Amino acid sequence: MTRTLQVDPVAPLGEALGEAADVLCRGGLVAFPTETVYGLGADAQSPGAVRAVFEAKGRPATNPVIVHVADHRDVARLTSRWPDVAERIARTFWPGPVTLVAPRSDLVPDIVTAGGETVALRMPAHPVALALIRAAGRPIAAPSANRSTRISPTTAAHVLSQLAGRIDLVLDGGACAAGIESTVIDTTTDPPAILRPGPVSAEELWDEAGVRAVAGLSAQGMPPRSPGAMARHYAPNARTVVTETSEARVHDEAAQGRSVAWLRFAREAAAPPGALSLTMPDDANAYAAVLYARLHQAEAAAVEVIVISRPPSGPHWTAVLDRLLRASRA
Ligand code: AMP
Ligand code: MG
Repeated sequence: MTRTLQVDPVAPLGEALGEAADVLCRGGLVAFPTETVYGLGADAQSPGAVRAVFEAKGRPATNPVIVHVADHRDVARLTSRWPDVAERIARTFWPGPVTLVAPRSDLVPDIVTAGGETVALRMPAHPVALALIRAAGRPIAAPSANRSTRISPTTAAHVLSQLAGRIDLVLDGGACAAGIESTVIDTTTDPPAILRPGPVSAEELWDEAGVRAVAGLSAQGMPPRSPGAMARHYAPNARTVVTETSEARVHDEAAQGRSVAWLRFAREAAAPPGALSLTMPDDANAYAAVLYARLHQAEAAAVEVIVISRPPSGPHWTAVLDRLLRASRA
C-alpha cells in the first residue's frame, strides 16, 4: 500500500513531514516534490534503502542516483574533493535545478554511484524537499519517481500511476515548476561538462557564474559519460514522433485509423476531429513545465501515436529538445 499525504508546497509544516522523515529513517521510500520533477527518496547512506529505490523503479544498477542535500556543509562529508568550479556553481544556483558531479567520499555507498568514483549532488529549491531532508537529518538519494525509462512525474498522480504499491509514501505538494530534470554538470573535468541539459543552460552558467561548460554527451561508439544518458529515456508507451511537418503527419496517422495525440503550438492549424489536441506554450520554460504532464495525458488517453511539433532550435530549447528526442527514439 502506498499512502499519500498532502503538504503545503509553500509552508510545509507538521505531521506529514514528520511521518515521511520517519519512513526515510527506517529505510523506506518516499516520493516528494522538487522544483524539477518528483523524486523517489531514500536514505543515501543506507545501501539497502537505495537498493529498494532501484527495485521500485526497475532501474539498472549501472545508473547512479543523485544525492539531495539541504545544507552546504553536507557537501564536504559526501565528497573527497570539491572543485572551485563546483563551489562557484553551487553558490550561484543552489538551491536550484543544477546537479554537480564531484569525487565522492567513503561515506557514499557504492550503489549510489553505481560503483563509480564520483557522486552527483544537488540542493533542490522546493520548500517540501528541503524540509523533508532537514527533518530526516540526512542526505536523501532520489532519482525521478517513475519506472525506469518512462515519463518523469510532475504531480503526485503521475507518481502513483507508475509506482503505486511499490513505495511507502507520496508527499503531494502540487505540480513541479520547472517540469524537467536538473542540469547535470561534471566538475571533475576542465572545462566542466554538461552531462544532461536542463533548466539551467550553458549561457546562464556563463552569464551568472562565469563558468564555461562544454556539452559532455558521448561521442558515437563511446560509453556515455553520464550512465543515465541512455538513448531512450523519458519515453511514453505510445509511438512518439517529433517533426516539423506535424500537421501532415497527424492527418496521415488519423487517415490510417490510428488514434493520435498532437502536441502543437497555438499558431498551427487546428487538429483534425478525433485527434487529441494538446496546445503547447511558445516559451521554452513554460513548455518544459507542462511537457511531461501533456505526455502523461496522452498516455492516459491510450493513443497509439503522439505527434510533437518540433520546437525552434536555439539555446533556450536545448533541454526540451533533448527530452523530446529521447522520448521519440524507438
Ligand atoms: P534521475 O535522477 O533519474 O533524473 O537521473 C540522475 C541522472 O544523474 C542520471 O542521468 C545519472 O546518470 C546522472 N548521475 C548520477 N550520478 C552520477 C555520477 N556520479 N556521474 C555522472 N552522472 C551521474
Ligand atoms: Mg529519471
